[in-house]
Amino acid sequence: MNIDIKSAHGLIPAIIQDSETKNVLMLGYMNEESIQKTIETGKVTFFSRSKQRLWTKGEESGNFLNLVDIKNDCDGDTLLIQAQPVGPTCHTGADTCWQTPNNANYGFISELEETIESRKENADLEHSYVASLFAKGINKIAQKVGEEAVEVVIEAKDANDNLFLDESADLLFHYLILLQAKGYKIDDVIKVLKSRQK
Ligand code: AMP
Ligand code: ZN
Ligand code: ZN
Ligand code: ZN
Repeated sequence: MNIDIKSAHGLIPAIIQDSETKNVLMLGYMNEESIQKTIETGKVTFFSRSKQRLWTKGEESGNFLNLVDIKNDCDGDTLLIQAQPVGPTCHTGADTCWQTPNNANYGFISELEETIESRKENADLEHSYVASLFAKGINKIAQKVGEEAVEVVIEAKDANDNLFLDESADLLFHYLILLQAKGYKIDDVIKVLKSRQK
């Protein structure tokens, strides 16, 4: 934590980011004293403009923000604070002050997972390949993953990179369907991978 407290003249905005999911949870204002208290206690503490006093987020609700890291920006007028929220960060009960869920987001893969999930709930067997796969059951989907894996192996031995990438996409797509059929998401697998890191 290399934060130069002397640069914090008056109030400076502090962006609060979940250190794991990387979502922005809220924005608050800090002064030198609140930065010091945040570092000393490990609980994110603002200077509340409405209360006109130091305000430790969670002091009433218990929904503290446990400090992970503080960074000053390029010109020293905005803080980026990474934290782990104990509960919902917004006083409305929402995870974030923008009413968004604080889920890990894997970009396009997460969008694809949502599309796959929607086919599970709204099964249009005639028009949706994914819905028809769900209807055939877990064994059939698992078999399909096995077939695509074999195709990846075959194409890996060949020099045709386009075919290798095509089969890789097939494998990943069917694997995401299998995860959903088993009631899981890629995030569950990523958590296992993270737990293996030293
Ligand atoms: P808390 O700090 O969670 O114990 O909440 C105490 C009070 O602080 C609430 O009643 C709100 O007035 C205010 N408050 C809590 N969370 C937020 C937030 N994310 N943004 C702005 N004000 C908040
Ligand atoms: Zn700046
Ligand atoms: Zn809020
Ligand atoms: Zn294939």
